[in-house]
Amino acid sequence: MSIDRSTIWPYVDGEPGEFLYSRYDHPTGVAAERKLAVLEGAPDGQALLFASGSAATTSLLLALLEPGRKVALAEGGYFGTGVIMREELGRWGLECVEFDQTGPPPDGVDLIWLEAPSNPFLTMPDLAAAATHPAKVVVDSTAATPVHLRPLEHGADLVLHSATKYLAGHSDALAGAVVSRDPADHERLWQFRQRTGPTCAADVAALVSRGLKTLRVRVERQTETARDLVERLRSHPAVANVRYPGFGGLLSFDVAGDPLPVERALRLIRNATSLGGVDSTLESRHRWEGDRVPVGLLRLSVGLEDADELWADLAQALAAA
Ligand code: PLP
Repeated sequence: MSIDRSTIWPYVDGEPGEFLYSRYDHPTGVAAERKLAVLEGAPDGQALLFASGSAATTSLLLALLEPGRKVALAEGGYFGTGVIMREELGRWGLECVEFDQTGPPPDGVDLIWLEAPSNPFLTMPDLAAAATHPAKVVVDSTAATPVHLRPLEHGADLVLHSATKYLAGHSDALAGAVVSRDPADHERLWQFRQRTGPTCAADVAALVSRGLKTLRVRVERQTETARDLVERLRSHPAVANVRYPGFGGLLSFDVAGDPLPVERALRLIRNATSLGGVDSTLESRHRWEGDRVPVGLLRLSVGLEDADELWADLAQALAAA
């Protein structure tokens, strides 16, 4: 795979060609975007990469909404999305109401923001109910990936990814993506990105392209291992509330009391944040999200290690609970 790191490309006969300045577009980014659009079933290749999932979220909100608009946000979803909406864009006039995404979205909102499945509560949105609402529907499909869900086929208007997670897949690339159903949304997002500059760098875009090549085999294997671990966790005496939507590599469960001894006892599984990488990671989410989550909630992102070895590590760490 060639990586073109140029920031400029010469005009052709005095006219700008397909690529002219890398803040607008660059060949390595466009190659990754085309692959992602195919995976998400976007009719005309309408995918855009951003510098992070959070940059994609911020860009989507700023580009498609305006002051005074109201977003219905799935409760129990990625903590940082609510922080962007309330703490950052609230100051610029965005309103945000949270709702239970397993039911219909509230009336009187301008945008619906779902997460499939929610991180770390692992609920699945009622996509059919959202599709009948007059507002546009965004699905943050980071944890589902197009291997398990193609939201555009279920009536969503926009699909968002933290490509940092499963799409890139190796915990070595920070990126985000938005796939649009409507060419006008895609065009507006592209205009916003080229004007304001949260473009994904060429090296990172190449890592996303590389990740997409193995996405299906990684995610299928992670699902298989996660299902196995979920069964074993459900019958472990120190574990309660195993949350798992039935697919994917992400799950969460509760231990009684302080989860720190369990985190510290891990040997194979990394005690680290984030998810979607080839190495399993586990962390307490209370440390970041406070009382929004139970004190003993541990989020596990299942990697590609052997299932029995992962279970052996979990079982010995849970002995510290
Ligand atoms: N969406 C979800 C579901 C996430 O889990 C995250 C990060 O954890 C984000 C968005 C933000 O992505 P990034 O960390 O790439 O900015």
